Amino acid sequence: MASDCIFCRIAAGELPADVIDRCEDWMIFSDIAPAAPTHLLAIPTRHVSGVAAAADDNPAQIADLVGALTLHARRAGIEEDGYRLVINEGRDGAQTVPHLHIHLLAGRRMDWPPG
Ligand code: 5GP
Ligand code: ZN
Repeated sequence: MASDCIFCRIAAGELPADVIDRCEDWMIFSDIAPAAPTHLLAIPTRHVSGVAAAADDNPAQIADLVGALTLHARRAGIEEDGYRLVINEGRDGAQTVPHLHIHLLAGRRMDWPPG
């Protein structure tokens, strides 16, 4: 665990979060500053800095996060109306927390292209 990483500290239970689902390998929790009526984050419990590092390390962990979020969306009844999954990577991608996370946004019509 990276002790200065917010998401590692959430995964370790050191910082509070509204946890939706979790297992040994990943967790899903609510974003603290929601950009849509439903705004969840899926993270690996083990620290990895972003999607490029995760792809180098073990691409299956990215698929696990996508699978966890799509299954949650189905069970939560938001699959029919749809949702958006987002990975921000690096400076130009607007990544602010350097621990891999996938956003799930739902509950309103999304604009495309994003700003
Ligand atoms: P990024 O811009 O890196 O893709 O997204 C980081 C997300 O993490 C942002 O949407 C931000 O609101 C969220 N976030 C930052 N700090 C915390 C926190 O302490 N708790 C939770 N639940 N979300 C956080
Ligand atoms: Zn971390």
